[in-house]
Amino acid sequence: MNEGVLSSMQEFDHEQVVFCQAKDVGLKVIVAIHDTTLGPALGGTRMWPYASETEALRDVLRLSRGMTYKAAAAGLPLGGGKAVIIGDPKKDKSQALFRSYGRFINSLDGRYITAEDVGTNVFDMECAFLETDYVVGTDPTHGGSGDPSPFTALGTFYGIKACLNKVYGDESLKGRTFAVQGAGKVGADLIRHLVKNGAKVIACDIDKDKVNSLKQEVSIETVPPDDIYNVKCDVFSPCALGAIINDKTVELLKCKIVAGGANNQLERIDHADILKKRGICYAPDYVINAGGLMNVFLELEGYSRERCERMVQNIYHNVGRVLKIADEMGVTTARAADVMVEEHLEKVRRGSRMFTMHPKHALRDVHRRR
Ligand code: NAD
Repeated sequence: MNEGVLSSMQEFDHEQVVFCQAKDVGLKVIVAIHDTTLGPALGGTRMWPYASETEALRDVLRLSRGMTYKAAAAGLPLGGGKAVIIGDPKKDKSQALFRSYGRFINSLDGRYITAEDVGTNVFDMECAFLETDYVVGTDPTHGGSGDPSPFTALGTFYGIKACLNKVYGDESLKGRTFAVQGAGKVGADLIRHLVKNGAKVIACDIDKDKVNSLKQEVSIETVPPDDIYNVKCDVFSPCALGAIINDKTVELLKCKIVAGGANNQLERIDHADILKKRGICYAPDYVINAGGLMNVFLELEGYSRERCERMVQNIYHNVGRVLKIADEMGVTTARAADVMVEEHLEKVRRGSRMFTMHPKHALRDVHRRR
């Protein structure tokens, strides 16, 4: 296993992977720190009944790398990290487990800051917070920022405007048609923004109750989940699960823009090539859905909702910049986002080679080397 871990880490150049266990509370966790060039690694803790440790390791490596890219694209001084707890969130949770987890996080001395993710919630983070300060997304009563979804939705809304501007030369939503997949926390809030700004929305969710209750609140049409790809629209907005742009769906889309809040929308990177060939403008997911990350980041500086709202507006420019780079380079927007991030990381790395040692220590170093 060890050899496998190190070679897996080398594949995407992860800095550190930490395995922790506490048998008495049933804790088995892997923390992956991908890259701390820009700052401490921040990313949520996922709790999932992984079929094997190899599967858990693969997931945490992939997710932590994604966080490096998301933070860098958002212009945040954060690195990328993620943790996975191997266990069933419905059966295996306890306050003791998350307190124990908090103690492990504390031992990393701020190299990794955690938050909630799939399978964990604000209460779990509150338990970890009893043992460590390196937790964000705690309850507002404890100085936290609470649920980040409204800001993910707001940022996605601004990113959509940047795409409309690029494709139609007009960012107004009036008279535009949207097909929104998923009416969960992010999807429902995005739909509220769209409708309020004059868009026509056709939505779906595998959970009928969610779309039906939203229909009571705002004026939308609904379709069965499988029909959403066939809706003729200006914008297709994925706000459910990942990998929904795939071999089966990519040719079905009848839109000019794909822009939504879901993570990992493309099943494979070459699906971005197909979208480009079909003349569909794609807003890279980790650029457009960074509003929630911006929200939790601000907790580290003393949370302010007004500041968060201003910061999230930048997603308009971040998405616009990626679309422009893609045009200039003649590559897909997914590739352009990766290039933008990798160049930024490389520049910061080069800048940090500058000599900053105190002269006294520098002279000692010179003498020692003689
Ligand atoms: P959520 O669980 O509240 O909502 C997801 C919704 O999608 C659910 O209502 C579910 O029933 C529905 N769904 C699942 N599969 C579907 C399908 N095939 N067709 C239609 N509907 C389907 O989750 P969320 O917090 O709203 O997150 C949505 C997406 O945004 C996820 O991909 C998540 O990773 C991503 N994201 C969320 C945040 C955040 O702040 N919550 C931040 C960044 C990215």
